[in-house]
Amino acid sequence: PSITKDVIKELSKVSWDEIGGLKDLKKKIQQVVEWPVKHAQAFARLGIEPLRGVLLHGPPGCSKTTLAKAAAHASLASFFSLSGADLHSKYVGEGEARLRMTFQKARLAAPSILFLDEVDAIACKRGDDGGNPSGNDTVDERLLTTLLTEMDGLEPATGITVMAATNRPHVIDAALLRPGRFDLVLYVPPPDCEGRYEILLIQTREMKLGADVHLRRIAESTDLFTGADLKGLCYQAGMNAAYEDDTSDIVYSRHFEIAKESSRPSLTRSMIA
Ligand code: ATP
Repeated sequence: PSITKDVIKELSKVSWDEIGGLKDLKKKIQQVVEWPVKHAQAFARLGIEPLRGVLLHGPPGCSKTTLAKAAAHASLASFFSLSGADLHSKYVGEGEARLRMTFQKARLAAPSILFLDEVDAIACKRGDDGGNPSGNDTVDERLLTTLLTEMDGLEPATGITVMAATNRPHVIDAALLRPGRFDLVLYVPPPDCEGRYEILLIQTREMKLGADVHLRRIAESTDLFTGADLKGLCYQAGMNAAYEDDTSDIVYSRHFEIAKESSRPSLTRSMIA
């Protein structure tokens, strides 16, 4: 079957203003990913080569995936996503074929942003296979070689930017960080108090909040919560309001307090040190 039949121009719907905090990081990604994709012809005229790859690293749940989706949305690029861990297959060659196929789809739907989550699962340093679900060095090497070959073939005219993410940057094979591959490595930190406040504002946008809800106070009391944890907290507060009275449409402070009692932050001090 022809590959063109399966190409679905996936457009991401996430915009930059749905990401709380991370002001400087968002600006950087706009400059190095969004602008070159959006203004590809101007960049080509000026002889500026866009980056082929950006590696995002940082603790889970802190918006690496969401940043890649926002970059795609803002630059009107198609968005393709693949997880390194899912490429380990018991069938010989299946993972490499899927990886090549995704690059092919991204080429056909260009301009595209190809997001590779858990890239450490395919680009683990040799001998350090703590994160290799297959435990099979040969599979790993073939996947890594395929990824390197695809990245090396990304001429500016191809119109693909690869954004990869990992929680374990220290195990990434140095070959991926050579010039012309992932030339930019960016740390995506957990939210600070102001960031948590902005995330809470975003995650409660669709809610009617009682006058007793002080999001700043909630932000102050949620140290070590990730963006994903805060999203879960807001969801649970909404559920608590519904359980209490399914005719009410207001979420009060007590609903957040009960939600907080049953939630734990995902981060520990050692993860962000
Ligand atoms: P993982 O490493 O587990 O894949 P991640 O860093 O890619 O996580 P996301 O998947 O982008 O994190 O975020 C998880 C959820 O948390 C998303 O649904 C997103 O809406 C929310 N979230 C995380 N960070 C933020 C943020 N800064 N602003 C708004 N929402 C956020």
